[in-house]
Formats: sequence, structure tokens, C-alpha cells
Amino acid sequence: MKIPEKIKMGGHTITVTIRRLDQCEVDGTIGVFGYFDCEKLEIHVDSDSPPSLQWETFIHEIIEAACFFTETALPHPIIQSFGLLISQAITNAEA
Ligand SMILES: [Zn+2]
Repeated sequence: MKIPEKIKMGGHTITVTIRRLDQCEVDGTIGVFGYFDCEKLEIHVDSDSPPSLQWETFIHEIIEAACFFTETALPHPIIQSFGLLISQAITNAEA
């Protein structure tokens, strides 16, 4: 599925970019597939990842954004699991 350039969440616009990521520019973590910048309201996805991983990362970062807006501190393995499950549910959905 095509990753959109912008999404809306709770009345806020989140910009999505797909580009080569050397590190997370929020906390400096190296080797990330993507990240959500809550101060700039941006999702960044690594362009060097395979398409399925880019899509799953995009969904993962949407969940990270939802946690930010709802002040919900989910354990990261739960966010990871939800990202995998929701990305597959949407990808394999039938009209
Ligand atoms: Zn995460």
C-alpha cells in the first residue's frame, strides 16, 4: 500500500517522509527503520527498507503517535505487535 505524505490524528496534521535514515534525529538511536517526532509532528520511514517493512514501520509510527496524543505509555513490544497485526490486517483487506 502507498504510504501517504500526510495523515490527520486528533485534528493534527502529521507529515510523513520516506528517506534514508542513518539515525533517529530525536534520540540519536542508530539503525532505526523509522520514528515519530512528537515536537515536529513528523513520521520518518527509512527508504532503504523493503516495501513491506516501510509499510509496517509507518503503521508502527502511527501507533507511537496515538500513544503520544493519548499520553499512553504502552510497552514497546505491544506497540510492535499492534504494528505487525494492523499492518497485515490492512494490507490483506478485501473490498
Ligand atoms: Zn517504536
